[in-house]
Amino acid sequence: MSIAGNLKIIHDRVRTAALRAGRDPSSVRLVAVSKTVSSSALDEAARAGQRVFGENYVQELVAKAELVTEPVEWHFIGHLQSNKVRQIAGLVAMIHSVDRLSLAQEIDRQWGKLGKACDVLIQVNIACEATKCGTSMTDLFELVREAARLPHLRIRGLMTMPPFFDDPEGARPYFRELARLAGEISALNIPRMEMAELSMGMSGDFEVAVEEGATLVRIGSAIFGDRYYG
Ligand SMILES: *Cc1c(COP(=O)(O)O)cnc(C)c1O
Repeated sequence: MSIAGNLKIIHDRVRTAALRAGRDPSSVRLVAVSKTVSSSALDEAARAGQRVFGENYVQELVAKAELVTEPVEWHFIGHLQSNKVRQIAGLVAMIHSVDRLSLAQEIDRQWGKLGKACDVLIQVNIACEATKCGTSMTDLFELVREAARLPHLRIRGLMTMPPFFDDPEGARPYFRELARLAGEISALNIPRMEMAELSMGMSGDFEVAVEEGATLVRIGSAIFGDRYYG
């Protein structure tokens, strides 16, 4: 199957899942996760209508941004070291993986130099696995309150990455919990912050995520094929 064909199938599946849950399909955006994918494959996806691309590594993102010829929007979705923020300042439209205040402060500092504000999501570690990134649920509220005060950063919502399950239903409680947390934070009416976006769902479980309220699904292998992934 071609990249264009895969994209069409995914859009159909997103649409069906959204309608099943009584949601407007246009409220769900597809982030094509292009880590390890060549810039030509990325251009191919862009020509098929894909606009938003998610990258995990700073160096790879910076290199690809120079090679890709189609107009695309970059999202950073991987673990981000503070000392690398400068390299992606102004280049990415959204950072999904803000998990600590020191990182939020560095994003604020770098975007401030450009006189701009960066859209960010707070990554929550619902599973409490030591190996996965994300703020713990206990630190989440404090992090949101502190980061919301930073002028060159706009909190737009939450992101999570559940543990892997063979059965996508296994991920449902994690997606539901992220949506619940977003509702709880939203009710606090913290100034300069909104909980409009939920970044959740990958190739194996995005339909469940859409049913639970995802507005951004991050899909890699179902678009580009397993062969692209090292
Ligand atoms: C790789 C990756 C994805 C996409 O995973 P697939 O299973 O290939 O769809 C989504 N989110 C993050 C954070 C990733 O690193």
